Amino acid sequence: MRSRQPLDHRAKIAEAVCPYCGVGCRLWAESAYGQVLRIKAVADAPANLGGICAKGATVHKTIDAPDRAVQPLLRASRERDLRPVSWTNAVDHVASRLAAIVERHGPDSVAFYGSGQLDSQSVYCAVKLFKGCLGTNNTDSNSRLCMATAVAAYRTSLGSDGPPTCYEDIDEAETILIIGSNMAEAHPVTFDRILAARKARPNLKLIVIDPRRTATADRADLHVTVLPGGDIALVNALAKLLCEQNDCDEAFIATHTHGFETYREALGRLDLEDLAAACGVAVSQLRELAALLGGGRRWLSFYCMGLGQSAVGMWKINSLINLHLLTGAIGRPGCGPFSLTGQPNAMGGREIGLLSHQLPGYRFVENPADRAEVENYWKRPAGSISSRPGLTAVEIFRALERGQLKAVWIAATNPLVSLPDLHHVRRGLDRAELVIVQDAFHPTETSQLADVVLPAASWGEREWTSTNSDRTVAYSEKLVDPPGAALPDWRIFCDVAKRLGYAGFDFQSAGEVWDEWIGLTAGRACEMRGMSHGRLIAEKHLQWPCPHAAHAGTKRLYTDKRFAHADGRAEFLYREHQPPREPPDHEFPLVLTTGRLYSHWHTLTRTSKVRQLNEREPEPYAQIHPELATQLQLTENDWAQVSSRRGTIRLKVRISDRVPPHLIFIPIHWGDLYAPGNAANYLTISVTGRVAKQPEFKYCAVSVERAPPESGALAAHGREALAL
Ligand code: SF4
Repeated sequence: MRSRQPLDHRAKIAEAVCPYCGVGCRLWAESAYGQVLRIKAVADAPANLGGICAKGATVHKTIDAPDRAVQPLLRASRERDLRPVSWTNAVDHVASRLAAIVERHGPDSVAFYGSGQLDSQSVYCAVKLFKGCLGTNNTDSNSRLCMATAVAAYRTSLGSDGPPTCYEDIDEAETILIIGSNMAEAHPVTFDRILAARKARPNLKLIVIDPRRTATADRADLHVTVLPGGDIALVNALAKLLCEQNDCDEAFIATHTHGFETYREALGRLDLEDLAAACGVAVSQLRELAALLGGGRRWLSFYCMGLGQSAVGMWKINSLINLHLLTGAIGRPGCGPFSLTGQPNAMGGREIGLLSHQLPGYRFVENPADRAEVENYWKRPAGSISSRPGLTAVEIFRALERGQLKAVWIAATNPLVSLPDLHHVRRGLDRAELVIVQDAFHPTETSQLADVVLPAASWGEREWTSTNSDRTVAYSEKLVDPPGAALPDWRIFCDVAKRLGYAGFDFQSAGEVWDEWIGLTAGRACEMRGMSHGRLIAEKHLQWPCPHAAHAGTKRLYTDKRFAHADGRAEFLYREHQPPREPPDHEFPLVLTTGRLYSHWHTLTRTSKVRQLNEREPEPYAQIHPELATQLQLTENDWAQVSSRRGTIRLKVRISDRVPPHLIFIPIHWGDLYAPGNAANYLTISVTGRVAKQPEFKYCAVSVERAPPESGALAAHGREALAL
């Protein structure tokens, strides 16, 4: 199946960051005979303090999977099968096809779609190739699906992207508010740390705001069952109460913010009962909640997809940041808004400019000075970088469908499961002239449609650098050689760039790439010049900003209360409650929300290979309330047909009062390889917000009915694909 040459019998102990969620747990790994044999948590790693979850503990079982991509594959035409080719042929083909398409249709006819799985070195090389050399800003990332709203909200409220907090704030907080996050399943090690902190300090109050009674809500001191889409109304109600009770940090507001009077006036015009109705929370509970945030308490908020995956996700996060500004709960221990990232290097992608409007070092393509600085640094001619923001995730696949975009290079992600409204994504890939898929696994739902498959080294098979949720930049060692002909992603980008004739890609190691990239952070908010590759190897991790070699890194941002806007003040941004884009109606009377499970991660390319994880969650399902089940005459494990305006899927029913009667919950992980035709994203809506362009995954209108009997056969076929 795969060969590692030569097999090394000597035991090797190394440390690497977990490749799953953005907690950034540091793992201790023992390898020998070319295989990773054992994984443990690193006891003194600041992100996990010895914690590990079932995914991290079994990650080594994924790297020897039978579906590892080990050889470049090429398809002569859409009617022909993919055939193995040499790297030379694959690189020649990719370079010549890209060059021909750019020459015929212009630079904006090609796009790159990457992910928070890519290490910083790979992101840097891809951005340099596409933005600096090919001249298109059509580069985006699956981080667009989860973190774009956080990026936009930090920038508009505080002046720059970058979570101001650190994990140690858990130990300092008096109140922890978790809103829009099922941390117990999606970021379990951080959640365990919160529970441990509460055990040590019983006065620590844990509030969970979620429409579902999740595993996270089970452990809360106060669970607030907000209506789906009601977050802004809820947060505005809390702000109104705090203002009316004069429970604000007036000195902080006067000295370090602007926009407060306009904000307070807008809140003053709102009716508390109306807000309570819009968010579905009783006024008495709103008062109880406000009391846990006011009074000068140190409070910390964790938020994730439940806020961000909305057409008004940026507004929701702005509203949450307003609450922190109102109470002065930012820039001091135990305080601040803390975005949980879904992937190990989603932050790295943000820092290096993978999103379509960005350039490295939190620069922007529309800013002439930013473009000139980057062009100079890359020794590219003036005007090489386009001033037009590129296409975002959803836009890339719609542009392929329209024929406006001709080629897409997809790396380390599986959009044919993870994007909303999948029928459009499939049509886009079908219509493309050239689809390049670079992945550690093949087949994936997406790679099956590729014209070229480029095999990438996986976790443990390369040295790499990543940034986790609290700005900790970490170095991970290589443990074993990659299988077959697989290569580190950054090297593949460099090989194609050199074949295209571009200078500046002669890197000999991941360390050389890293040391070039951090030069672009000089004087920037995410400054990393003090984190040379050599220092990271020695110290393993440092938090940015870290401007020089003697700097110890920075735990918290804004401790001097000087924010990143030009005048140093943070901005109150009043946001009005907005109804969801697709409310229920007589045809689709229920609401669908999607989410993650403890045992799985993203689109199953890794976790489906681990028996223990599959046994815990072997198949997709639709979770519905007992009242709805009775109404539809459904019992546990019956087959239900769930329909939206975009499609119909069939899943087994799980009946639970953890969801309210009007809400259906479906996990996101299963795609066509494992549940053919029944992925949750055949139903979801691809509407996005105007600024952040993040899709509204958490809310669309659906109907549910009993499924016809043949539905079972579909799912059984899907399960055969699992390596149980
Ligand atoms: Fe990996 Fe996240 Fe689990 Fe930590 S919490 S071991 S980073 S999946």
